[in-house]
This record gives sequence, C-alpha cells and structure tokens, in this order.
Amino acid sequence: MNEQAIKDILADVVRKVLAEECGGRPGSAGMDAGPIPVEISARHVHLSLQDAIALFGADLHPERPLSQPGQFLSAERVRLIGPKGVMDNVAVLGPTRTASQVEISKTDARALGINPPVRQSGETAQTPGIILASSTGILGLSQGVIVAARHIHMHTSDARRFGLKDKDMVDVRLETERPMILKDVMVRVGDNFALSLHIDADEGNSAGWKPGTEGTIIGRSRGGT
Ligand SMILES: [Zn+2]
Repeated sequence: MNEQAIKDILADVVRKVLAEECGGRPGSAGMDAGPIPVEISARHVHLSLQDAIALFGADLHPERPLSQPGQFLSAERVRLIGPKGVMDNVAVLGPTRTASQVEISKTDARALGINPPVRQSGETAQTPGIILASSTGILGLSQGVIVAARHIHMHTSDARRFGLKDKDMVDVRLETERPMILKDVMVRVGDNFALSLHIDADEGNSAGWKPGTEGTIIGRSRGGT
C-alpha cells in the first residue's frame, strides 16, 4: 500500500469520526446520504387553463402520471413555431398552471431561432415568447420560454436526511460513462416532491445519461446561498 492510499484511508476515518461526533451516523445523514435518481426533462410546455382552452377547446386530458406526484403527461401535443424553425409533437404537461411556460434546451432554442435564458421554473419575466399551435388553434405567447435550470426535487423527509433546505445550491457528480460535475443545482423541497435530479436533454446527452443514471451531491456550491 502506498503512502497516498494510507493518507486517504486515514482522512476517511477522521471524516467518519467527526460525522459521528456531530450527531450523524456516517453514510446515513448529511449530503453524502446516498444517490439521487437523475431524469431528463425533454422539451415540454405548461399551459394556463385559458391557453389550453384556446388551443384545444378544453382542459388537458391526463395520459400517464409523471414521477412527481400529481403531475401528468397530457394526451395533447403542440407545435412550437419560432422565427427560424418549428418543432412538432411537443409534450404538454399538466395540470394547468397560472401562467403558460415553454421549457426547451439551448439546442432547441437555436433551431427555433430564439435565445431564452436559463431560469428556474416560474421565473418568466423578460423571457422570449413563441407561437404555439394545435390542430385546432394557434396562440402567441408574449413571454414564457426558458431553458430550465437544473434542480433537485426533494421530499421534506429527503431534505432532512441530506441536511438541506429549499433553495440551497449544491454541486452534483453524475455517475455516467462520461462523468460530469454539475455546479449550482438548486434544491427544491416540498411534501409533493419525489427525490429526483432534473436536467435537460443537452446536459443529459453531454454526460452520457441513460435510464438508471444516478447523481451524488459532492458539496454546497461556492457562492451559493
Ligand atoms: Zn423538475
């Protein structure tokens, strides 16, 4: 065994002893409290009830539930129409919200010819608009297109286990064929959330995401609040 290996083992033992003294059992509490399932959020649209009626003449029809409790993929699909391109068959997620929002990747944005900022869901002030179309309706959104900022959904009990609270920022290592460290990942805590890290298609593809991919929190983000 070389000197570095011995040093690493000693450092690990010290870390575990300190963790015990701080009241946590090693491996069961704190930010290393286990892996987080990673899901890709493909491009999708959220609609207000008013906009759903404008496009489809009715509220959304659930097709299948999503991993977050209460959320569903609807049977409805829309076409996104930008200045430079269109995207067909885009998923609409329900239930309806107070404001419509379109979540796409930077690659999608380039193809559509718009330049949306990276934002947390719901933060749509000063974002670009887009045209939405269905087989029966067409609707111009004056704003609401974002590239969704990566985030971790945590149930309140998960947050306790990880020692984190709503809006904490953490760095996460993706355990993939092409491992990647994601900085500034926002933690969202709620009683209706299931533990899951949401990244977009660009992030997933760059890391080599596949079903079953997991992430590990490696620490709080520097400069995070
Ligand atoms: Zn999410």
